[in-house]
Amino acid sequence: MRVSKSFFTTSKDTPAEAEIVSHRLMLRAGLVRKLASGLYTWMPLGLKVLRKVEAIVREEMTKAGAQELLMPIVQPSELWEESGRWQKMGKELLKFEDRHEREFCLGPTHEEVITDIARNQLSSYRQLPCNLFQIQTKFRDEVRPRFGLMRAREFTMKDAYSFHLDAKSLDEEYQNMHAAYCKIFDRLTLDYRPVLADTGAIGGENSHEFHVLADSGEDAIAFSLDGNFAANIEKAPAASIPPSSQLSAEKKVVDTGTARTIEELVKLLGVPREHCVKTLIVKGASDDFPLVALCLRGDHELNEIKAEKHPLVHSPLLFAGEEELASNGLVNGCIGPIDLAVPIVVDASAALLEQFVCGANEPQRHLVGASWPAALQDDKIIDLRNVVEGDSTPDGNSTYSIRRGIEVGHIFQLGDVYTKKLNASVLDENGKAVTMQMGCYGIGVSRIVAAAIEQNHDDNGIIWPEVMAPVQLAIVPINFHKSDKVKAFCESLYEMLSARGLELALFDEPKARLGAMLADVELIGIPHRIVVGDKGLDKHIIEYRHRRATDNEALSAEDMENLVDTLYSKVKL
Ligand code: ATP
Ligand code: MG
Repeated sequence: MRVSKSFFTTSKDTPAEAEIVSHRLMLRAGLVRKLASGLYTWMPLGLKVLRKVEAIVREEMTKAGAQELLMPIVQPSELWEESGRWQKMGKELLKFEDRHEREFCLGPTHEEVITDIARNQLSSYRQLPCNLFQIQTKFRDEVRPRFGLMRAREFTMKDAYSFHLDAKSLDEEYQNMHAAYCKIFDRLTLDYRPVLADTGAIGGENSHEFHVLADSGEDAIAFSLDGNFAANIEKAPAASIPPSSQLSAEKKVVDTGTARTIEELVKLLGVPREHCVKTLIVKGASDDFPLVALCLRGDHELNEIKAEKHPLVHSPLLFAGEEELASNGLVNGCIGPIDLAVPIVVDASAALLEQFVCGANEPQRHLVGASWPAALQDDKIIDLRNVVEGDSTPDGNSTYSIRRGIEVGHIFQLGDVYTKKLNASVLDENGKAVTMQMGCYGIGVSRIVAAAIEQNHDDNGIIWPEVMAPVQLAIVPINFHKSDKVKAFCESLYEMLSARGLELALFDEPKARLGAMLADVELIGIPHRIVVGDKGLDKHIIEYRHRRATDNEALSAEDMENLVDTLYSKVKL
């Protein structure tokens, strides 16, 4: 690419709305442009990166035996009615009508469409197993689109779906996809981890997420230090641990004024957080118990996924509103588990408190020295909390460490959830109709681009992993338009390296300043660069630098063929 003829805009200004570094750098480097909330145009340079990621994903999926197809982004409501997700998906599903007043949505995912294809095209066990994938635009009307391409509304996903006669075959393909994902993220040279994930509302047995580790990640990942276990914090089991000391106090009601939060109570009463019990009121699963109280130690955080799995608790988890609390006689800020008219579910670590401080269910009153009712049943004591750094693992053999991760992939054994609802079956060896088993496998292709930047940048800009770089080598001339010698040298280098298949950026704009050109090279993240000037050429030298290096390296420019070889081997290594 000749910079003078390319559409290419960089900016020094830090965009105000960009909260994380990848978003800032993608905007500043001109890789993407925002159209509206969660909607971005991939500009030519950015698109090159996206296409490179796509190519690696496509190659590895194909190598793993999956076949590419392309489904429409617009999907008819009927299929979603069949799966039961037309209502269930809520507002994330963007719905609209066509001119015949038929209802459609923009596909946030393609389980329905692919299952419809499977039930129409697959009729015999002989056609199984099969795995079909696409790389395509998805639309999800996210509540809070943020961080640029990281959580966009329109984004690129690779989604694959496999169909099987039985669970064993599904499991084999799941392992195959797990391995293919590892190859993809290895090739992208990202620091990533596969971790156990919750199967959510869909149910099913097995699910793993692939996370790129980065402090800006929205997910917390729990690792056991012995390396035997890694899970999304949603899914990491917590051990029941006793407090470091037990409270010993006479049971009494105390006036706590306007103190409502654990912090305020700790300050006012001088007790440690671990001796306080917080009581959260959520919606119940049945009309018999419309509200349920969840109790945790003051220093522990509720794990919503664990909570919504309790039979008394509504799934998905919904907190009771202020009005609902008031109409049930519950005093917001002073709720406690003792003599409460609502059933209580207690976290297993909180249950080990012999005495504690909690709300007294009266305005401005708390109870000190409270203890759990003797009638608290075992089925109401469960793991309700998020594990924390340093917690021992439930087997007692190791401790947890917590890191932040960006979810870039998710694989799932769906079983027959969709195939049953859409009645997708094949005939087995004995001519008997069998509902197919199904797996699904997603990769956030556009999110990967942002995640790679989160992991690879410095104060000056992006440092692309070589396989993703939009351009491999920058040729930066000094006085390109004034010195015939520099111009001729750069032109012939450009031609020869292009002929060898390298992707180059020749900074051939008139009047470009060296400092500004180098700043652009660094901002854009071009991995290799050379500077060519008259002074160097007089001494048969050009300056080379890798984006990660701090010093220049002088390369001999005496013989053009040799220089081309040297640069080619540097870039290709
Ligand atoms: P998240 O938990 O981040 O909302 P998800 O679990 O809803 O993601 P999946 O349905 O598993 O996502 O989609 C497969 C992949 O698509 C995810 O692993 C993620 O990398 C990517 N992805 C999902 N939502 C978005 C989004 N709004 N913007 C960009 N990529 C996304
Ligand atoms: Mg997911």
